[in-house]
Amino acid sequence: MSTSTLPPKIGFVSLGCPKALVDSEQILTQLRAEGYDTAKSYDGADLVIVNTCGFIDAAVQESLDAIGEALNENGKVIVTGCLGAKKDAEGDDIIHKVHPKVLAVTGPHAVGEVMEAVHKYVPKPHDPFTDLVPAQGVKLTPKHYAYLKISEGCNHRCSFCIIPSMRGDLVSRPIADVMLEAENLFKAGVKELLVISQDTSAYGVDVKFRMGFWNGKPVKTHMTQLVEALGELAAQYGAWVRLHYVYPYPHVDAVIPLMAQGRVLPYLDVPLQHAHPDVLKRMKRPASGEKNIERIRAWREMCPDITIRSTFIAGFPGETEQEFEYLLDFLKEAEIDRLGCFSYSPVEGATANELENPVPEEVREERRARVMQLQEEISKKRLQSKVGKTMRVLIDDVSRNGGVARSAADAPEIDGVVYVKPPYEPHIKLKVGEFFDVKVTAADAHDLWAEIA
Ligand code: SF4
Repeated sequence: MSTSTLPPKIGFVSLGCPKALVDSEQILTQLRAEGYDTAKSYDGADLVIVNTCGFIDAAVQESLDAIGEALNENGKVIVTGCLGAKKDAEGDDIIHKVHPKVLAVTGPHAVGEVMEAVHKYVPKPHDPFTDLVPAQGVKLTPKHYAYLKISEGCNHRCSFCIIPSMRGDLVSRPIADVMLEAENLFKAGVKELLVISQDTSAYGVDVKFRMGFWNGKPVKTHMTQLVEALGELAAQYGAWVRLHYVYPYPHVDAVIPLMAQGRVLPYLDVPLQHAHPDVLKRMKRPASGEKNIERIRAWREMCPDITIRSTFIAGFPGETEQEFEYLLDFLKEAEIDRLGCFSYSPVEGATANELENPVPEEVREERRARVMQLQEEISKKRLQSKVGKTMRVLIDDVSRNGGVARSAADAPEIDGVVYVKPPYEPHIKLKVGEFFDVKVTAADAHDLWAEIA
């Protein structure tokens, strides 16, 4: 058996046709992605997986013999593949009838189920990526929403940021790994998945958008394909998918139609940080050359319900009053729905600290206040336009005074909320983690008030 310092070892016996072989490859890829090793012999393995064939009698016999051999030599066996889906005349599972000691049986194309069984009998080794994502049982979020981290690190070198020096360059998680985790979270009752990273649009750049597999289909390690696959999976569970930290590269335009079709939430968190080209250049921002006003206009045309969230920095070193006013003009025109603004704060080790003409602290603060004042008016106007509309909300909290919920426009912790009145009808009960359709009755600059529609 493996010791705690060595990765657990899984033995693999692959039988059957090329389709079964592809299944085996996917399972082996997933095992490797999660840090398991493959064992060369039965007795060096912590568990053995047998991928079976059930096509003709000879193949059935060969599979049953292979399972028997693995049980004798090792004892801990999981069976997958075509024979796993076969029942006898009484409707009983053939494998358990012949080999009752087999730990788990699945049919073909069942990477997720096989991995679940593996996790049950040989716990997953430590993984620096997934361990950063709230895992079931030690999640820091309520049961009904969860963060899904798709990559670690960043290839950019924004002058105000020290993340790349702490976390290194971009490392994208394998797409099968990401999808499997998403599926497990949905299975565990998660109703809203928040996709996070340092730079979601760059997903897959480091692995040259390598082809992976999910549910027997090829899927590229690419943001658009990931969003499509997540949208498809979320639809099966009646759940939401929300995208964070999306830089406005041209390929981002391809996810807007998916939002318009309701596959993922029409919500885009695009950290712009500034609008003036010279400030963006000093910030060394990715996608700084993009014409963001035009892009935002086009996104709203494609998906009128889209909520755009962004963050900005006021008083970046060298920011002149004229550059700052350029930012204010941009904000007036862009009418960003949800906005956070920070006054520049020199982080130790950031190259921006060495830039000329730092802005005095009181000016930085005053500029931040001006942005927030302007945003309050914009937000008030945009939220007011929702009064009278019906929308779907997810309940986060329930008390005697009603529910605190969020709509597609509200990410947890950072955006506003929708206060839902206690329902008049006694048979309707607000419940945490459930969706309700509500009619908006009032709005202020941050939040909405609503009643059950
Ligand atoms: S701020 Fe810039 S450097 Fe820092 S993580 Fe984001 S994109 Fe990367």
